[in-house]
Amino acid sequence: MVNAIFSSLPTTIFEEMSGLARTLGAINLGQGFPDDPGPAPIRARAAELVLDGYNQYPPMAGLPELRQAVAAHYARRQGLDLDWASEVTVTSGATEALAASFLGLVNEGDEVIVFQPAYDSYLPMIRRAGGVPRLVSLSPPHWRLSREMLQSVFSARTRLVVLNNPINPAGVVLPEEDLALLAEFCVAHDAIAVCDEVWEQVVFGAARHRPLIAFPGMRERTVKIGSAGKMFGLTGWKVGFLCAAPRLTHALARTHQFLTFTTPPNLQAAVAWGLENPDDWFETMPRKLQASRNRLAEGLRREGFSVLSSEGTYFLNVDLPGSGVGLGDRDFCLMAVREAGVAAIPVSAFYEHDPVTSIMRLCFSKADATLDEGVRRLARARDLAVRRPATLPA
Ligand code: PMP
Ligand code: GLN
Repeated sequence: MVNAIFSSLPTTIFEEMSGLARTLGAINLGQGFPDDPGPAPIRARAAELVLDGYNQYPPMAGLPELRQAVAAHYARRQGLDLDWASEVTVTSGATEALAASFLGLVNEGDEVIVFQPAYDSYLPMIRRAGGVPRLVSLSPPHWRLSREMLQSVFSARTRLVVLNNPINPAGVVLPEEDLALLAEFCVAHDAIAVCDEVWEQVVFGAARHRPLIAFPGMRERTVKIGSAGKMFGLTGWKVGFLCAAPRLTHALARTHQFLTFTTPPNLQAAVAWGLENPDDWFETMPRKLQASRNRLAEGLRREGFSVLSSEGTYFLNVDLPGSGVGLGDRDFCLMAVREAGVAAIPVSAFYEHDPVTSIMRLCFSKADATLDEGVRRLARARDLAVRRPATLPA
């Protein structure tokens, strides 16, 4: 028999929507990836390294030059004091880092707190690791944590808390107050925090990302996960980082060695070079994305859509009922891709219980013309939807 946890899963919503967009020739504002090819000097470096660099197995924990560059990057940008040799492991994307965290840190029956909306890999991997998820829902438009919320899920059996910040799909950067509250609960319950911070560099305007590992009592109990894919807009590269105190890194590295063992050395070296030679990338990249976010938000508002605020990630959300759409988010997104030629992501896909079914996520890391045409098509989808009954055939 095959494993029930994985075999019962549907194809991820990102693959489903991108597949429909490919088949139908639709504009894809669903899955989060930029249509810009990414920084040319870093890609050129990777190409040189494929031709003339070292293409055999690199060290299991990652190239020292990349681990040093990661520690130096976080020291410069977030004031952290990571020891590259004992606290930084390179993984094949944040996806592998998350898998290593759950498989390496969870014992059978441990409770793992997960905030919904939750990135899609968390729950199946936690369950496969023997963990028991305890779900707690964040709600639009602010998606904030509260003391009551944490009191309702933390228990003597809590082993791990998973925090995604900045939050995909919400597009918010949690304020210091919420992070301090979560840190207080982690310390009081002796829990480990797995922090999925892949969007840490994609933050706009006055919003500031603060790593949970920097909060009092968290240095020894936090696993910080980053992704070069998001830092440099090279989502297909799948180069990720696991940063944690030596006690945790030991277990994480032992898990990593049997998940992928290593990550392509040429891409690792190119990412190391990018982190050491970013020029003004970490300023221009968010500034350009902010302009794209504004263009999409303004276009949508002109068409009468109700847009939630976005201060980070590639995403902004639309409140469907507030935009005159009576259909649920999944039905509306299916109709938009099939009948209006534009793909989006229903936010209900990020919830297992009590789903918020009225929000649609749009990716704005696209060319202006694509965003403008996307708005026109979404407006057409909305016009079709208002003439429809409340549900569609599956
Ligand atoms: N976590 C979150 C919140 C993400 O949005 C993503 C990808 N978009 C990942 C993890 C996976 O990152 P990677 O591609 O580096 O595996
Ligand atoms: N993180 C991307 C998103 O939210 C998707 C990554 C994937 O398809 N696994 O769109």
